[in-house]
Amino acid sequence: MIADNLASVIHHIGEAARKVGRSPDSIRLVAVSKQVSSEKTIEAYQAGSKCFGENKAQEAVSKIDEVNAQDISWHFIGHLQKNKIKYLDSRFDLIHSVDSLSLAEKISAYCKSQNQQQAVLLQVNVSGEEAKFGMTPSELEEQLPSFGQLQGIKVQGLMTIPPQDPDAENSRKYFIALRALRDKCQAKNIEGIELNELSMGMTNDYPIAVEEGATLVRVGTAIFGQR
Ligand SMILES: *Cc1c(COP(=O)(O)O)cnc(C)c1O
Repeated sequence: MIADNLASVIHHIGEAARKVGRSPDSIRLVAVSKQVSSEKTIEAYQAGSKCFGENKAQEAVSKIDEVNAQDISWHFIGHLQKNKIKYLDSRFDLIHSVDSLSLAEKISAYCKSQNQQQAVLLQVNVSGEEAKFGMTPSELEEQLPSFGQLQGIKVQGLMTIPPQDPDAENSRKYFIALRALRDKCQAKNIEGIELNELSMGMTNDYPIAVEEGATLVRVGTAIFGQR
C-alpha cells in the first residue's frame, strides 16, 4: 500500500510538472516519516523513496539508526530547538526549517566546531499567520547578508508552510509569494547565499506547489496514511 501511495504521489508530481512545462526531475519528493514507524519507513525505502523528512531531533536520530541505509538522504523539517542542534551532527543533508538568525548562528558555530558545513533553507512565514514559525519577508531581506557570513552553514533556498486550508487552491498565493521573494533576493546576489531551492507543498497542496516552482515537496499523509 505504501508502494502504491508513493507511486501515485510521484505520478501527480510528474503531471503537475508537465502541466507547467517543468521537468519532473527538477522536483525532489521528501517522504515525511515523522511519527511513522521504522518498519513503514523501510517499506517506503524499499519501494524506492530515498529521501525522508523528520521533525523531531531525537526521534529522527533513533530512526536513522534503525533504518540504517547508506543511500538515504535525511532532511530535518521541524522547528529546531537550539539545545537539540548537537543531535543533528551531520546526519541531515538539509535542514528546511531555519527560522531565525540566532538559530543559524548556533548551527553554524556547532558545525564549525565539527569542521562541517550544514546545508539549510530559511523558513519564511509568508502568510503572516501568528502561530507559525518563520521569518517575515522583510526580516529575511534584512538579515540575508548576515546569514551569508556564517561559515558553518550554506543557505540553499527558502521554505514555507501556508495556513491549513481544505481548499488547496488557497495555498497558491503563498507559493507564488515565496517564489517572488526568492527571485527578489536572488537578484541581489548576496555573498554566501544561494536560493535555488523552494521547499513548499504538503499532502493537501503539493501539485499546486509544483506548478508554482517547488523544487522540494514534503509529503507525509499521502504516502504513509493518517498519523
Ligand atoms: C508534517 C509535515 C509535513 C507533511 O504533512 P502531510 O500533510 O502529512 O503531507 C510537511 N512539512 C512539515 C514541515 C511537516 O511538519
